[in-house]
Amino acid sequence: MTGGGIVDKIIVVLNHVTPEFVVNEAVGMPYDTQPSSELTSKVIGIKKHLSCAEHIIMNWHVVGASRLELQEHMRHRMASPTVKSTRYTIDKDFLRDYALNTEDLFVTPDLKNLPVEQAAILNAHLSFSAVSAIRAIKECKHAKIPNDYIKYLLPESLRTSFSWTINLRSFINFLKLRTDKHAHFEIRHVANEMRRKISESLAAKYVDELLNQMGL
Ligand SMILES: Cc1cc2nc3c(=O)[nH]c(=O)nc-3n(C[C@H](O)[C@H](O)[C@H](O)COP(=O)(O)OP(=O)(O)OC[C@H]3O[C@@H](n4cnc5c(N)ncnc54)[C@H](O)[C@@H]3O)c2cc1C
Repeated sequence: MTGGGIVDKIIVVLNHVTPEFVVNEAVGMPYDTQPSSELTSKVIGIKKHLSCAEHIIMNWHVVGASRLELQEHMRHRMASPTVKSTRYTIDKDFLRDYALNTEDLFVTPDLKNLPVEQAAILNAHLSFSAVSAIRAIKECKHAKIPNDYIKYLLPESLRTSFSWTINLRSFINFLKLRTDKHAHFEIRHVANEMRRKISESLAAKYVDELLNQMGL
């Protein structure tokens, strides 16, 4: 294990975002006026009439984050997740050969901010626990123990994947909490990646502008 796997192997995909005309039409409704980007920008971005932001839905995929990140991510109740099932995927994940590289299976935190001695100790334990988990699960599979029992051997560092659908109002709350310096570095990385994907997406350009208006 070398550390620093977080940035390399977590993939964040913005699968879909509500087309702008949908929210423009909703925002125009109270004023009985022509829908427009300008009105949406004024109502959501400036007046912070955030119930209107609930008309903007984003569909995400997060691939390769740890189950540690997952449990923090799932605390955001105003969103809809569908998560990779360990019951159905333990065999596929663990019966492969990880003799050389366990970073495909487990997230290794970036250790560069730790003093060298601490990084060395932690790195050794991370390697040991990864190899131990793989060995234990292979042995249990060999003994034909059902996956619902084997699950208890899984470490929080195990990579997972999930689809996540969230409206912009809830996403604003997520971004504020999880890009903050107090958030754990892995979910902060995922939140920053999500914000970056929005800024790069043509379809989400209007969302990028709304978030910019809010200083996010
Ligand atoms: C730095 C940090 C440290 C944390 N540490 C811990 C910790 O040690 N232990 C822990 O358990 N959690 C911890 N959390 C998680 C935190 O408590 C929240 O569960 C998580 O951030 C989701 O926030 P949320 O409730 O605002 O989001 P959501 O669940 O998405 O809710 C969005 C908004 O909807 C409203 N809402 C949702 N449900 C209700 C409800 N039942 N009643 C009234 N209003 C509701 C609220 O306005 C809420 O802000 C931590 C979070 C952060 C950012």
